[in-house]
Amino acid sequence: DWTASVIKQAEIDKYLDGGKDFIDEEQIFADIEKHKNPDKQQVRDILQKSLDIKILTPAETATLLNVEDPELLHEMQEAALEVKKKVYDNRIVFFAPLYLSNLCVNSCKYCGFRAENKDEVRHVLTMDEVRDEVAAVIDEGHKRMIAVYGEHPKNGADYIAESISTIYSVKRTTPTGNGFNNIRRVNVNAAPMEIADMKKLWRAGIGTFQVFQETYHRGRYAELHPANTVKGNYRWRLYAMHRAMEAGVDDVAIGALFGLYDWKFDVMGLVHHAWDLEKHFGIGPHTVSFPRMQPAPGSFLSEHSPYIVSDEAMKRVVSVLRLAIPYSGLIVTARENPVLKRDLINHYGCTQTDASSKLGIGAYAKKLKQEENPDKVQFMLGDQRSLDEVICELANDGMITSFCTAGYRCGRTGDKIMNLLEKGVEGKFCKLNAVLTFREYLNDYASPETREIGEKLIARELQEIENMPFFTDKKLLPTFRSYYDRIARGERDLYM
Ligand code: SF4
Repeated sequence: DWTASVIKQAEIDKYLDGGKDFIDEEQIFADIEKHKNPDKQQVRDILQKSLDIKILTPAETATLLNVEDPELLHEMQEAALEVKKKVYDNRIVFFAPLYLSNLCVNSCKYCGFRAENKDEVRHVLTMDEVRDEVAAVIDEGHKRMIAVYGEHPKNGADYIAESISTIYSVKRTTPTGNGFNNIRRVNVNAAPMEIADMKKLWRAGIGTFQVFQETYHRGRYAELHPANTVKGNYRWRLYAMHRAMEAGVDDVAIGALFGLYDWKFDVMGLVHHAWDLEKHFGIGPHTVSFPRMQPAPGSFLSEHSPYIVSDEAMKRVVSVLRLAIPYSGLIVTARENPVLKRDLINHYGCTQTDASSKLGIGAYAKKLKQEENPDKVQFMLGDQRSLDEVICELANDGMITSFCTAGYRCGRTGDKIMNLLEKGVEGKFCKLNAVLTFREYLNDYASPETREIGEKLIARELQEIENMPFFTDKKLLPTFRSYYDRIARGERDLYM
């Protein structure tokens, strides 16, 4: 009954075209087949289009997916990195995941939280427990969070909206006693919702709304998601972002779980998804995720899928996505091992990651009983390092950590931010805000080693900013300099 009451068929039908959704499987297979052994010049022309920060067509994406020539693959990697530099420069955005509930009515075959997994201890965090968790995350130095919820009536839109407000309400004095730290952007990964519920999240101050399609292939999707569950409805999920946009949540995040089906097909699915959002709303996804399936407690499939994606294939996934949807942020998470994660950030175009992540319910504050069993998580992490360790490593590679959350607080979201990203303007604001938030981190949380490396990096960034005509022309430098000095003296959360 609950399943039937959740799905509003009219909110799916309005986006169908002649009764069809935007995933035309025959066309995707035909595109992949037709563009095998692509011509060198054709590939180079497509790379040039990406370098002009234009979204690629599905046919162009299929062409890149079929490149096997090592020389062309190298050119693709270089172009992907160039695109990343143009749009995001050397910034890496950090966030922390917070799991608020492991109650779930679904039974996805690859997931440790699935309803039929009776070994799982179930819990929904109370608001007091949310505050404890958030405090522990803030004390690591984080300022951005993705709140993750299972799909269950007990953690529906009202609970999510209340928990977003609770997360924003927590403020912690910094370890040095200089000012405070808080979570300034709460993104949400939750079940697809109806438009009225999305509006509740919008009013509560949601940042980005994230739903992964898992796989865009209908047959495989049906095998993995029992039909009698909400998640068994492929189209309810497929149009979750359309409903979010309609409700006013204009930063949306799409993704697929790689390893469930053929990786080339799912890259094509993501690109079709981006195109359909562009078609209806004039903007594509704010971020794209491509988590790779990892072993999950009690899940046979997670270790024996015939579609497991190799490290080399993951690098191609990231390159092609970077080129195909050049303005979107690309997220690589702590699911991946430290070596691959570093490589995907430094050499392939990922722009966001997490660190010091804990996936158990109540795992940050460690006040709940079920945390005594470390197996009770949705999947296993490949990178368990602290935020400081990862920031230090990447700073050493020349990547500046950004906790920037200015965009949505200054109204630079949705089509406004997409236009600015395409023109390379938002990146300039991000550069200033990255330096301001990195200054905060170095003062408040950095270990001596990170501080030493970070000070050198920030000095280089300040030099660059002083020499960029954009900032002089826009008369931004005096404000930036004054904010930087005020932060160095102990003020917090100044942004442009
Ligand atoms: Fe529930 Fe999500 Fe796990 Fe599926 S993947 S069982 S919806 S928590």
